[in-house]
Amino acid sequence: MPSRPPKRRGLPPLVLALFYLALVAAPMLPAILSGTGHWQGAMRLATGAGVAAAVMILLQMITSGRFEAISGRIGIDITMAFHKWAAPVALLLAVLHVLAVIGLPDPERPGRLARRIEFVLSGPGLWDARLALLLLAALVVLALLRDRLAMRYQTWRAGHALGAVALVLLVVWHAVEDGSGGPVAAGLWVALALAVTLPALSVYAGRLIRPAARCWRLDSVRPAAEHLWLLEVSPPEGQGLDFAPGQFAWIAVGRKRLPLHDHPFSIASAPGGRALRFLVQEAGDFTRTAGQLTPGMRVSIDAPHGSFVPRGDGPLILVAGGVGIAPILSILGHLAQTDSGRPVRFLYAARSTAAMVPPELYQPACNRLGITPVLISDAAESDAVQRGPLTHGHLERALEGLDPASCEVMTCGPGPMMTFVADTALDLGVPMQNISYERFSYAAGGSSAKDRRTLAGFAALWGGVLAVVMVYWLA
Ligand SMILES: Cc1cc2nc3c(=O)[nH]c(=O)nc-3n(C[C@H](O)[C@H](O)[C@H](O)COP(=O)(O)OP(=O)(O)OC[C@H]3O[C@@H](n4cnc5c(N)ncnc54)[C@H](O)[C@@H]3O)c2cc1C
Repeated sequence: MPSRPPKRRGLPPLVLALFYLALVAAPMLPAILSGTGHWQGAMRLATGAGVAAAVMILLQMITSGRFEAISGRIGIDITMAFHKWAAPVALLLAVLHVLAVIGLPDPERPGRLARRIEFVLSGPGLWDARLALLLLAALVVLALLRDRLAMRYQTWRAGHALGAVALVLLVVWHAVEDGSGGPVAAGLWVALALAVTLPALSVYAGRLIRPAARCWRLDSVRPAAEHLWLLEVSPPEGQGLDFAPGQFAWIAVGRKRLPLHDHPFSIASAPGGRALRFLVQEAGDFTRTAGQLTPGMRVSIDAPHGSFVPRGDGPLILVAGGVGIAPILSILGHLAQTDSGRPVRFLYAARSTAAMVPPELYQPACNRLGITPVLISDAAESDAVQRGPLTHGHLERALEGLDPASCEVMTCGPGPMMTFVADTALDLGVPMQNISYERFSYAAGGSSAKDRRTLAGFAALWGGVLAVVMVYWLA
């Protein structure tokens, strides 16, 4: 029986944006409505910018990609991009807060500016604010430079998490100690801090107290291609995982149970089976040891996550590059199992045929769907494989005989390839909302037209935050 597209989890982007804006505006609303802000304009600007920065910092705790209510519909790519760019915006607002506290030089009050600067730099009672600003700046700079730092990813991640918790404590301490909003405002700051911190802490606590019997088990590890391993894991007796094709899991192997050691991997098997398959490409500290993992090892799984899931019912064009074949295998398998009836075209590109997974992983599904995979290698070594890289022509041929406006294009692979596929599909007439991709590295690849539209959406939201601050300032 043809399958229905899986139900979307998580809130729609507009609802998330309005909720975000409402939370930023909430602490300022009473003063805006009653006109009871500070009598000095500069101090109103300082308070508005400071409050907006503080709420944005607190909300960073829940935009880390772990919460399906947030990332379930918009996807982990957009969630992480938001998390990455909201932090520098919060930093700019925090700097604006400090500058407004200092104020402009006043010719009628010589020495005032120097006194204000001295107060901000060394005045008593502001140690928390100074520390918070330095910590925020350090977290932002280290996150933006992460891929260029000679630091293990895990070390950076642990530092980032601990720094974030310390920052939340400092920000709330500063807001409460300021006391200008009275006990009700202080209570609300503490409540907001708890509301954003507890869900993150519960992920850690849940993992620590989970009995070993509830862990999954590594069944087998075998080479799938050059520097690529196929892992099969099975659940504890009586359990399984209900997921949609194309989703991913956070995985930690062995005794390392804390989510700090989790790595995201797409599920490479179709839903419905008891065991799960993963394809792991050697990339860094953990993945380079994939071949040394031994069957029987304990595996912690936090899943399902992600929204890289087929949605429409028109023709589906699947374009995989390298290890990006993992979620595509799950989707292909699902389409084959459910006789979806959707016309499917499947393109698989890799740098060499040695880097391609064996046909036994995709050919049975292709046979069932009655399709011939288009295999593309940058160093084509056989007649069955076309010479790469993937071009406009390959995608044009994939759409031949189909109405582009009704097609859905899903691509997963190296960042630049996904950008190329997304922009080319758009160019060929596929609607933007029908094009989806999943990045395995948040830093990789130039931005596609779709990414630029997303960034424009973020900019509009932060413009809204600034507008709230301006209204508060001028009210
Ligand atoms: C949604 C998603 C699905 C993925 N699916 C697959 C897959 O099916 N197969 C596969 O081989 N790879 C997949 N990856 C990439 C994989 O998670 C990283 O290659 C792996 O975590 C690297 O770990 P490492 O310790 O070997 O490398 P490290 O040396 O620790 O890191 C190398 C780089 O990998 C990235 N990375 C490392 N740890 C994480 C993490 N916890 N979260 C996000 N990025 C991280 C960072 O960009 C880092 O710079 C996926 C990534 C994402 C975001």
